[in-house]
Amino acid sequence: MSKILIIEDEVAIADLERDYLELSEFEVDVEHDGTKGLERALEGDYDLYILDLMLPGVDGFEICERIRETKNTPILMVSARKEDIDKIRGLGLGADDYITKPFSPSELVARVKAHITRYERLTAAGAVQQNNDIIHIRGLKIDKTARRVWVHGDEKQLTQKEYELLTFLAEHPNHVFSKEELFKRIWNMDSIGDIATVTVHIKKIREKIETDKNNPQFIETIWGVGYRFKM
Ligand code: CA
Repeated sequence: MSKILIIEDEVAIADLERDYLELSEFEVDVEHDGTKGLERALEGDYDLYILDLMLPGVDGFEICERIRETKNTPILMVSARKEDIDKIRGLGLGADDYITKPFSPSELVARVKAHITRYERLTAAGAVQQNNDIIHIRGLKIDKTARRVWVHGDEKQLTQKEYELLTFLAEHPNHVFSKEELFKRIWNMDSIGDIATVTVHIKKIREKIETDKNNPQFIETIWGVGYRFKM
């Protein structure tokens, strides 16, 4: 049975969400406070999180960010204001979906089911293929033996250096590398060379693998530091 954590301070909404999800055979935990919710989210083993944005204690933005530091579990954000949804998108916190209040409970259940199914499929594929030199992170798949890359099933043509840079970052998810480090590792030279090469290659990779290159979901720019592959 899939397990869901709801973090929502409005008791009536939390109850409604829980009732509908339990009717659909999900196991549901509820927290009404952001601080407790975050603790439980990080400790517990959940298959999906439903996060309200405005919460006492820690807000939904921060909870989302903290969960993403260690987990790939689907996150559905709930907000009363459409502007907040735009903000969440802009921040690229790694939420998988957004829903505005008021919403229909059956729509919520449908979305929850879709995300859990999709995530199970991804993790199952990842587990089977890990021994096979295949990296599978969300929609991105890299076959290291064949040196081929797919995004959501579509093969992408990368140059040798683009491939090496992407693979190196994907093999060290969440680790921030400076441009100098990346230049040394991929171009195999002392960093006397032009580290702008790294920036150019990251830009090209994004053009090939990102749906919206202004809001990258795979390689993230850490301003003033370098890049990291988001897990
Ligand atoms: Ca709230």
